Amino acid sequence: MTGAATQAEAIASADFIEKRPIERYVAPVKRSLVGYSRAALAEALGSVGVPERQSRMRVQQIWHWIYVRGAQSFDAMTTLSKDLRTALADNFTLVRPQIAAEQISMDGTRKWLLQLPGEIGGSPHEVECVYIPEADRGTLCISSQVGCTLSCTFCHTGTQRLVRNLTAGEIASQVVLARDRLADWYRETAHGSEPEKRLVSNVVMMGMGEPLYNFEAVRDGLNVVADGDGLSISKRRITLSTSGVVPNITRAGTEIGVMLAVSLHAVTDELRSELVPLNRKYPLAELLEACRNYPGLSNARRITFEYVMLKGVNDSLADARALVRLIKGIPAKINLIPFNPWPGSKYECSDWQQIEKFSEIVFDAGYASPVRTPRGRDILAACGQLKSTSEKLSARERLALRAMAMTD
Ligand code: SAH
Ligand code: SF4
Repeated sequence: MTGAATQAEAIASADFIEKRPIERYVAPVKRSLVGYSRAALAEALGSVGVPERQSRMRVQQIWHWIYVRGAQSFDAMTTLSKDLRTALADNFTLVRPQIAAEQISMDGTRKWLLQLPGEIGGSPHEVECVYIPEADRGTLCISSQVGCTLSCTFCHTGTQRLVRNLTAGEIASQVVLARDRLADWYRETAHGSEPEKRLVSNVVMMGMGEPLYNFEAVRDGLNVVADGDGLSISKRRITLSTSGVVPNITRAGTEIGVMLAVSLHAVTDELRSELVPLNRKYPLAELLEACRNYPGLSNARRITFEYVMLKGVNDSLADARALVRLIKGIPAKINLIPFNPWPGSKYECSDWQQIEKFSEIVFDAGYASPVRTPRGRDILAACGQLKSTSEKLSARERLALRAMAMTD
């Protein structure tokens, strides 16, 4: 019996999603306000005695300091009274996730391994966040869970069990952290405050985890990221990628309203169930139906279908033709992703020529079919890989990396 068959059987035989243990998350004593929604901020202010009638104004001021100015201390919030600043500092922090390691690729891609509160077997909870600069945009790839409950066979995160969901604050604070590291905040100048060229202009939720299995936190976190008076990354510049959690796709459209990417990867249920085992629960027909009905779908707001190119597995030209037939009628683009191998993975990336031929068929059928250029190869910038590199480092090397991250 192959490993895939064993896994498939295990999945078919039980409601596997709830089966894996989730570590208990113990919130730190002083909570960080970074990543808080307006409602959560209002509640926090109430808890330190800010009267109801002042709440709206104070929330707006603090919101501006945190999400427009990138304030790192309550003392910097000069529009607040000294007393309020002291009360806030006594009860809360503005701490960001800790950078445990930072790698900068020759092509400018930056990868951060972030440490979050919590511990499992002596190791901290960690997720990764990647910044990819391009000529016309800068894209930040953020995570939604520590690990993943799903076990896609080509994905390294899939080999790690789910440790815990990220909180809404931890989701939004990845954008705050990137703005810190890239000095990407609005600044006061002699001519008033002026926007610098935004380095983080786009966000993709394509890091660790399945966002639609952490729905409420992802919704609330992304709504903070999209707020026009704060981090201000418009919903058209935010893309959420799902492996196909069908019941939450429509909800994502109505309650979050960001762009949708769907990890398709195969055109038959048989192969998709092997690559993306969640397909056993939500097969292709149901997934595509949910895509057709995605709220707000139009030619201007297309769904991106992601398709990882696996040599000899899903990359034949017949697959390309079947793919085009499968998504017929859905306003879509197809993102061909060269497989990024990881130690122990059983697949190879398709040959470049094959990817080009595949792409041509998709393109000729009228779909944009960009091949995602591999970025940051020298720093293993694929899903789940910074974490795996760092896991192999000795305690001493980890400390050295951390020190490096803190000094530059
Ligand atoms: N869980 C979500 C989002 C995170 S994964 C999802 O599955 O959509 C983001 C994208 O990276 C997905 O399309 C996923 O299939 C792809 N991916 C994962 N591992 C990969 C690898 N080793 N090489 C190329 N793409 C990979
Ligand atoms: Fe989880 Fe997405 Fe990786 Fe699948 S591809 S294991 S859903 S992170």
